[in-house]
Amino acid sequence: MCGLLELGQKQLEPALPFANIADEIWERLKHPGKMFEVSIPMRHDNGTLKIYKAYRCQYDSTLGPTKGGIRYHPNVDQDHVSALAFWMTFKCACVNIPFGGAKGGIAVDAMKLTHREMERISRSYIDAFKDFIGPDTDIPAPDMYTDERVMGWMYDEYRLIKGGHPKDVITGKPAALGGLPERTPATGYGGYFVLEKFMNRLEKPIKEMTVAIQGFGKVGYWFAQKCVANGIKVIALSNEFGGTYSPDGLDIEICQSRLDKSEGKEWGMGESITNEEIIALDVDVLVPAAVEGVLTSETADVVKAKMVLELANGPTSIGGDKILEDKGILVIPDILANAGGVIVSYFEWLQNRHAEARTSKKIYSDLKKTMWYATRQTIQRHKTKGVSLRTGAYALALKRIAASKECLGAKHYFS
Ligand code: NAD
Repeated sequence: MCGLLELGQKQLEPALPFANIADEIWERLKHPGKMFEVSIPMRHDNGTLKIYKAYRCQYDSTLGPTKGGIRYHPNVDQDHVSALAFWMTFKCACVNIPFGGAKGGIAVDAMKLTHREMERISRSYIDAFKDFIGPDTDIPAPDMYTDERVMGWMYDEYRLIKGGHPKDVITGKPAALGGLPERTPATGYGGYFVLEKFMNRLEKPIKEMTVAIQGFGKVGYWFAQKCVANGIKVIALSNEFGGTYSPDGLDIEICQSRLDKSEGKEWGMGESITNEEIIALDVDVLVPAAVEGVLTSETADVVKAKMVLELANGPTSIGGDKILEDKGILVIPDILANAGGVIVSYFEWLQNRHAEARTSKKIYSDLKKTMWYATRQTIQRHKTKGVSLRTGAYALALKRIAASKECLGAKHYFS
């Protein structure tokens, strides 16, 4: 099995002939622009000192300041964050927002940290990376196991160090600190807007459609909520401890409320199901919304869904893609499907810089327009070039980055 960054690059390679870009541009894009690694000391509540590895990768800044979330997970390492930063680069380009791609993280199990430990380690992260991030250079945001509360602490730490009120340094902040309440649902909602453009391929009324979602976190919850609000049945959900299944449809509010009271271990309804079983369910749409590498050459054969909507980053390996394609299963790629969050982050960043507020209605309508436009452009490439949606999305993104690189001139070729 290849590393994650290699997976991203292998996913992109089939798009190179269609993007018609210079070989040297691709050569440059194969390497992360900047990668920072630090050791963060953190004193735990019980008095012990532990050292954690923390990372920030600024992959490519051709289109603008780099943008990307901060993940707290034991698997976080250089390969992980550079791959996630690679996907951010092409995601921003695919949906045409003026950001490059970045990602950061700490190799820590956030579930084992207390509230105060979370605050301490989050402030230490900013302390370590304060000179690398900035409103015009690199703008962090939440990712797995980080949320608006963490972004509030991080913003506070940055402003205490740098002075002033640089709210545009971090997005995904609480509304009271200039964040947009619409940011939290944005990735799930954005995924739903993309799915709307493919529903006609299912050839059935919306009320008869079924979905299964692996990963019932921020993204999975809001996607599920949008499905249910539109009459689609969510028949299975899961998290890192396992899942629940009900062919008649789950009540996601009951599930969420029970999970909140049981540290994520009880669902309050449905039959129990494993994460392996959930991907084999006979549903219209299977939605990986948790971790990378769940649909691989070892696992993808059991998929019976008609479509896979990738809300997680990198859930499908090259071998997994091939199997799904051979089975005629349409894969809606991550760099398009989960771009809703970064689009609303862009609105937040603009609002923090210009103090001009959009209404909630306008935010969602602009989100939908942006997702639909990128989806139409991807579908157009998929149809006219006879390539997968993933290749179509990468070709679209590559062309935008390459066009900017060409206009920026030749200095980089000589240095
Ligand atoms: P989250 O931390 O809110 O939720 C993650 C969920 O996945 C939790 O329910 C967790 O229990 C579950 N999970 C963890 N490991 C699992 C496993 N091995 N099997 C099944 N479930 C598992 O994170 P999130 O923000 O919802 O992000 C989910 C995915 O979406 C990640 O891949 C992330 O990079 C991607 N993504 C998130 C955003 C965003 O706006 N949050 C944007 C783009 C992409």
